[in-house]
Amino acid sequence: MQVAIIGVGYVGLVSGACFADLGHTVRCVDRDANRIAALRAGRMPIYEPHLDALVARTVAAGRLSFGTDLAEAVREAEVIFIAVGTPARRGDGHADLAHVYACAREIAGALSGYAVIVTKSTVPVGTGDRVEHILRSLRPHGSFAVVSNPEFLREGAAIADFKVPDRIVIGTEDERARTVMHALYRPLEAGTRILFTGRRSAELVKYAANAFLALKIGFINEMADLCEQADASIHDVAHGIGLDQRIGARFLQAGPGFGGSCFPKDIQALIKSAQDLGAPTRIVETVAAANEQRKRRMARRLIQACGGSVRGLTVGVLGLTFKPNTDDMRESPALSIITALLDEGAEVRAYDPEGMDQARALMPEITYVPDAYAVAEGADALALITEWDAFRDLDLPRLRRRMSGDVLVDYRNLIAPAAAAEAGFHHMGVGCRPAP
Ligand code: NAD
Repeated sequence: MQVAIIGVGYVGLVSGACFADLGHTVRCVDRDANRIAALRAGRMPIYEPHLDALVARTVAAGRLSFGTDLAEAVREAEVIFIAVGTPARRGDGHADLAHVYACAREIAGALSGYAVIVTKSTVPVGTGDRVEHILRSLRPHGSFAVVSNPEFLREGAAIADFKVPDRIVIGTEDERARTVMHALYRPLEAGTRILFTGRRSAELVKYAANAFLALKIGFINEMADLCEQADASIHDVAHGIGLDQRIGARFLQAGPGFGGSCFPKDIQALIKSAQDLGAPTRIVETVAAANEQRKRRMARRLIQACGGSVRGLTVGVLGLTFKPNTDDMRESPALSIITALLDEGAEVRAYDPEGMDQARALMPEITYVPDAYAVAEGADALALITEWDAFRDLDLPRLRRRMSGDVLVDYRNLIAPAAAAEAGFHHMGVGCRPAP
């Protein structure tokens, strides 16, 4: 099938490359000419494991191409995906749909034969109706359907998530569109479940899923705080509840609070939509507020471990991105922790395997160094914020020898407390009392 994808970010580029790999012919367009030029030169504008090889392979096979001309891509396509950003609107937290609506208007001007227009961007319930209204008002006799097909991929595991998803959700009331979408995803059908719903339900599935996952994280973080006060272990508690199949073991890792490009903004958007619809989501509101407070409080534990002040001290930070295997810094807990440490007078030195370019633009005032051992050089304390695999097998004695202090705050419980203690660290994890 001929597919057009608008937006070559984490979702658009991965989806485009994967659809091409499934045998479709895909044209990806973006209004950012630099991104397109980079892609045409074989450079990835984002970091996602194995994406470069997949793009190279599908481009070489003649099934994936890039451009800036939306109209040209749309004219050829049977299926047109809108995969542009839907950030939080400044001021009120509603999803900013300006890019989505701009795409709808541009698509309307370019439609030729029948086409299915699919919102893959995460959008509030009812957005599909609005997109359809824009298209219909500009093309009253146009032949098209508007479908919701939310994306559930996770950065860092995006290709596998796209190819073997837990489910594919397709929201449409239009029979012809349903047949087209079914044909598009048929190559994945053997390994997953394709769920057809109404368009509005599909839009809500995405927000409800993210809110539920955020709830799990918020819950286990709250239990971690309780464990610290009760002298219990969050590992045991999480393991103990996770064995109950109604709860499940995944997404029960305590940490510094969730960040990323999706959870914070999607939860805010859900809260706003629900308020507008007169069905406020009190539980979700609490999860969002508790998470923001948590992220702000997280620097405090390092300051306390340093004796109540970090003024004039050097803090080394291991990991900056909101999770491993991505370069995405959006809403990363590292931003709040580092900002608070700087406000308290610390000097900060940091290393991240992939996130330093994005981090530099957001935090130019800290020092970036080429590896974990350089982070430790002369540091009074270390903060491990992102659980990159590379930090799992650090040479702890070597790290400790380079430092002038001994504090290690492990916000991800990545380092075994006994190994840290043996290397001479005063180690503090999340959800367990530190060793005396
Ligand atoms: P992104 O910011 O990485 O990329 C968006 C791209 O769209 C950019 O390259 C931008 O230049 C382009 N764009 C914006 N307006 C455009 C226009 N009018 N015409 C052409 N191109 C335009 O965003 P992302 O992380 O890929 O997210 C895209 C959507 O998918 C969002 O709604 C997001 O919530 C959702 N989503 C993201 C993830 C994720 O893990 N990143 C997962 C699931 C869903």
